[in-house]
Amino acid sequence: MTASRPQSIAVFGGSFDPVHNGHVMIAQSALAELELDRLIVMPAAQSPFKPVQKLAPAEARMEWLRLAFAGEPKVEISSWELDRGGVSYSIETLRALAAAHPNAEMFYLIGADHVATLTEWREAEALAEAATFVVVPRPGAPEEAFPKPFRGRYLKGDPLAISASEIRQRLRAGRSVADFVPPPVAQMLNSMQIYSEN
Ligand code: ATP
Repeated sequence: MTASRPQSIAVFGGSFDPVHNGHVMIAQSALAELELDRLIVMPAAQSPFKPVQKLAPAEARMEWLRLAFAGEPKVEISSWELDRGGVSYSIETLRALAAAHPNAEMFYLIGADHVATLTEWREAEALAEAATFVVVPRPGAPEEAFPKPFRGRYLKGDPLAISASEIRQRLRAGRSVADFVPPPVAQMLNSMQIYSEN
C-alpha cells in the first residue's frame, strides 16, 4: 500500500506587469523539480515593494497570465489578491491558503533578487513558518544563503535576463517584445497600446 503524501502547493506571487518568459521558466522549473500538485500564480493588487508603480489593469494582467499558462493543467491563475485589493502581503495570502488546504505542504516561489530582503517582508517570522521558499536563479542576483529563520532551496532553472520593466520600456519605444513573452501575450500586448502613459 502506498502512503498518501500531503498535497504540495506552490504560490507564485508578483506584479506580472506583464508576465514574461522568465516567469514561465520559474513555473516550469518548479513543476518539474518539486513534484507539485498545484502551482497558484497570484498577481498582486499592489506590491508592498512597488508602492508607487501604477500597474496595468488587473483584468489585463489576469488575461496575459491565462494566455501564458494555457496548457499547464497544474497551474491555476488566482485573482484572490486582486479581488481583495489594497497592498498584497504574502503572509496574508499564505494564511488564507493554509486555511483552505490545512494539510498541504506550502512553497512560495521567488526570484533570487528577493532572497536577501526576505526578513523585511511583513511578519517575516510567521512567513518563514508558513512556507518553504523556492528560488530561481536570476542573472545579476548572486546565489545567497537564506536569512534566518527562512528555509528554502534553489531550483536549477535556467536564468533568463528578462524583466517586466524592460518589456514595458520596449513597448513604450515601439520595439518588439516577441523574444521576451509567450507569443499570444506578445500579440495581445501589441494590440493594446498599453504602457504608453506610465
Ligand atoms: P519588474 O521589472 O516590473 O520589477 P519583474 O520582472 O521582476 O518586474 P515581477 O512580477 O515583479 O516581475 O516578478 C514576480 C517574481 O518573479 C519575483 O519573485 C521575481 O523575482 C521573479 N522573477 C521575475 N523575472 C525573473 C527572471 N528573469 N528570473 C528569475 N526570477 C524572476
